[in-house]
Amino acid sequence: MSGDIRKKSVSTQAIHAGEGRRGSSTGSVPDLVMSSTFIVDEEVSFSANNLETDAPFVYTRWGNPTNGQLEQKLATLENAEACIALATGMAATTAVMLGTLNQGDHLIISNTNYPGTAEFARGSLPRFGISVTPVDTSDVENIRAALRTETRMIWLETPSNPLLQLADIAAVANVAKEHGALLAVDSTFATPIATRPLELGADLVMHSLTKYIGGHGDAMGGAVCGSNALIAPLRTEALIHQGAVISPFNAWLIMRGMATLPMRMRGHQENALAVAEYLQNHPNVELVRYPGLDSHPQHDLANKQMQNFSGIVSFRTANAKQIAERMMSELDVIHYAVSLGHHRSLIYLLQTDDLVSTSYRLEGAALDKYRDIAGDGLFRFSVGLEDAADLCADLDRVL
Ligand SMILES: *Cc1c(COP(=O)(O)O)cnc(C)c1O
Repeated sequence: MSGDIRKKSVSTQAIHAGEGRRGSSTGSVPDLVMSSTFIVDEEVSFSANNLETDAPFVYTRWGNPTNGQLEQKLATLENAEACIALATGMAATTAVMLGTLNQGDHLIISNTNYPGTAEFARGSLPRFGISVTPVDTSDVENIRAALRTETRMIWLETPSNPLLQLADIAAVANVAKEHGALLAVDSTFATPIATRPLELGADLVMHSLTKYIGGHGDAMGGAVCGSNALIAPLRTEALIHQGAVISPFNAWLIMRGMATLPMRMRGHQENALAVAEYLQNHPNVELVRYPGLDSHPQHDLANKQMQNFSGIVSFRTANAKQIAERMMSELDVIHYAVSLGHHRSLIYLLQTDDLVSTSYRLEGAALDKYRDIAGDGLFRFSVGLEDAADLCADLDRVL
């Protein structure tokens, strides 16, 4: 492609961005370069600190043509200057936190989010002298109230796991800027098709590529996008020094998945809305959360901030444990399994006692609020791309 890909529409970008010729042949499909080392014809420094962005390929942990193509495709979709691809979403999260925060810094983070993120922030960061305040980030005033002089970063997850709470990225970005803190957003549930956090004022956007972006449940990966100035040190620390490089094979599969991301997100949204409406009318269902429903308490913000409501529906029933057991044996199409964002439908019961004590460590009013929504447990349904009527028939069998 010879024109400026940044000026093309998102469907064209998803297919063509990044698939240039740097280090590859003239195939229409990008090469998969599995080589761990590269033949060099000039002297290259061994220090990662001197790495230029257009340096020749030397060793895959430093840079690889296939991984670089994935990085460029994602940077284009997020409208970012730079991107690094990593081994998993958690590697991307830890890259941001460990690569940006220093001893004495303070982090404000959503009090309910992806359990791995919650546990890393609460359990590991304090070991490095980083203090962490989890707050309900659905209200920007809670974030403002938690600010300290040493607050260096605010971390949002929107929509969040598993409550599907939103955070107003533009409003929080203003607070972060006034305070001189960085805003990082885990945008895994939204994808760049729904929301582009950098355009709303965030400094860094993080993705689990294992989910919608790869989209097929066959490759793990993660990524961080942002300015060159913020991403370059993460490349040195997280990839070259800590070694969280993605396999080029996974990068290649994820790139292939990304080509259909805009189409898939339309399909996920359409099916999720149909399933959410079915669930809302089901007598055994006590509560349904989906940003695309009028009944979602932040539906207006969803309309403002999301161009697509994505495909995750959370719901609560009576006797959730028995229903979960029925699901394990009686579901026909839907898989009872963790993870999300695949073309296959996945459902899982997230039990409240377990999550609030081990991952979130919620107490008092925060615990009451969580229980108000989730009860004893919430089913997280990642609505796939099968026929919506077949999915509803499957749910009908077990509810
Ligand atoms: C899955 C997920 C992660 C972690 O990604 P992995 O690829 O499993 O390491 C982080 N955040 C969110 C919101 C996720 O759904």
